[in-house]
Amino acid sequence: MSAHRIPVMVPHLGEEEAQAAAEAVRSGWVAQGPRVARFEQEFASLVGADHGVAVSSCTAALHLALVLLDVRPGDEVIVPSFSFIATANAVRYVGATPVFADVDLATGNVTVQTVDAVRTPRTRAVIAVHQGGVPFDVAALRDAAARWGVPLVEDAACAAGSTAYGRPVGAGATVAAWSFHPRKLLTTGEGGMLTVDDPQWAARLRRLREHGMNVSAADRHRSAQPVLESYLETAFNYRMTDIQAAVGLVQLGRLTDLVAQRRALAARYHELLADVDGLVPVRDPAHGETNYQAFWVRIDREYGTDRDEVLAELAAAGVSARRGIMAAHLEPAYADMTPPPLPVTERLTRDSLILPLHHALTESDQDHVVGVLRKLAA
Ligand SMILES: *Cc1c(COP(=O)(O)O)cnc(C)c1O
Repeated sequence: MSAHRIPVMVPHLGEEEAQAAAEAVRSGWVAQGPRVARFEQEFASLVGADHGVAVSSCTAALHLALVLLDVRPGDEVIVPSFSFIATANAVRYVGATPVFADVDLATGNVTVQTVDAVRTPRTRAVIAVHQGGVPFDVAALRDAAARWGVPLVEDAACAAGSTAYGRPVGAGATVAAWSFHPRKLLTTGEGGMLTVDDPQWAARLRRLREHGMNVSAADRHRSAQPVLESYLETAFNYRMTDIQAAVGLVQLGRLTDLVAQRRALAARYHELLADVDGLVPVRDPAHGETNYQAFWVRIDREYGTDRDEVLAELAAAGVSARRGIMAAHLEPAYADMTPPPLPVTERLTRDSLILPLHHALTESDQDHVVGVLRKLAA
């Protein structure tokens, strides 16, 4: 029995972040300003995109992506049910209908086949998720979406530091949405980002996050001459603050180490659990590398103990694990929908759980977690 509780996730926040936030406060410029602009540039270049537009959350980013693509009531948007509920909710924010696609058992991601199976003439967009950091097959899905003439939005909330075909997952995306919630690898407290390559799209997204103004409040403030702004369309206040961006700029410098550390710990989990029948940990797909933002394991029948009992036993042993990724179609908020059959989604959400994996996890913590799992195996 370990002396302390082992958390499932701990954000990496240090003295540098505290100082950066304090500097932003002392500068007197706390709303969206120069630090946000720098954070956008540095983040976009890190994930392989030309432009970054910082917003208040990934949920806001997904919403703006659909506004940008002019998705409207009556339109259908294909999304995985197997995702945090924000992915499906964004579709409802623009009055469109989410249509759930099933996922692949190994990666938890939608595929060309699962999306194609629910495509209709009303499909106006697809949101594919790099679930838990595991990259979906970007070559296959981006090609298929282009062939279908349907824009592909990438929910990359969990995927900073993941790669596909040797490049960061943001490279080559039409539009990608990222999260800086403390549950993700990089955090700004709350926060999100959109990345795009098209400069006109970037300009429109900047306007959409700031009330539809043709000139940002920051630019207006900096100008020596009075600038009369105008409001070109009805939009939103989805801005990030300069305090958040100051923290984010420090966090960016940690990403490479955070990912390397997680991948090393994940490899150790793989080794220690390799001979346990019926326990299937997530791993890299053939086409890329995950950042292991979530280390989930599937509990198959041969294991002998079901998922909820494993969670209870881990909790009793001081290990804070979590149920696996949720399925939106099983939540009361979506009870009014009749989804297509989603057998893999239902199996994964019922049978998977997320194990502790973070920078503060020690090998002895890991041995403790593995010990509980080995003891429970049939
Ligand atoms: C966390 C998450 C979101 C929401 O991110 P916020 O920044 O909290 O709004 C959306 N999609 C996925 C897949 C996520 O994991």
